[in-house]
Amino acid sequence: MAKPNAKTVASKLSLKLLIDTTAQNVLFAEAGKEVVDFLFSLLSLPLGSIVKLLSKDRMAGSIGNLYKSIQELNDSYLQNNEGKSTLLNPIRSIPPSLLLPGPSSSSSSKNVYFQCANINASYSGCYGYVSKVNGVLCPKCKTYKMTKQMTYVEGDERENYVDPNAGFVKGVVTYTIMDDLTVTPMSSISSITLLSKFNVKNLNALVERYVTLGFDEALEVLEISLRSKKVLTSVFLGKK
Ligand SMILES: [Zn+2]
Repeated sequence: MAKPNAKTVASKLSLKLLIDTTAQNVLFAEAGKEVVDFLFSLLSLPLGSIVKLLSKDRMAGSIGNLYKSIQELNDSYLQNNEGKSTLLNPIRSIPPSLLLPGPSSSSSSKNVYFQCANINASYSGCYGYVSKVNGVLCPKCKTYKMTKQMTYVEGDERENYVDPNAGFVKGVVTYTIMDDLTVTPMSSISSITLLSKFNVKNLNALVERYVTLGFDEALEVLEISLRSKKVLTSVFLGKK
């Protein structure tokens, strides 16, 4: 899997895990807004994005085969190439403050545009037009085709500031995240209730550990959440 650029991994995404060392389980985690926003944002990912992020082989079930099928289907069977591209590279819909980078950072065909190939295009006014489709007849000079490749530059808003109002949940509280990704606002009473619910007999077996949610962990959370109810244990204690 290609490594994303490091700046897409926000360093502040950390969680405090409460681990039962006897059972080798994460009982629950405490985390702030950023982690909860990331988890909720998984719901907004198009299925095609998930397959692309995880790669077909890491995808639970058969949905990866749908992706592979359209990928390999000869263009002569398709109404147009744009449909194929839309399915294989769905437009990312998660807020930009969140962790998972979309396919945009790679050389995705979505970010390539075409200008008129006329060498005098800057004089003739042809450069006022761009197309997503290679080879369209230039609407200005009506002579040359639009084949001169341009690359769209996304820019990264997150480099400059963090908007406290971005994302889904408010930042004033700490949240409890269960091993099965049930998320609730935390209160001291609920922690005690949780401990009794887990039927922890030996409190000495409990340890706290701070962990970071980087890009690799984020992908694992996504992958494991699709097939398991012990996500935190699997990702952070390495129990697959
Ligand atoms: Zn032109």
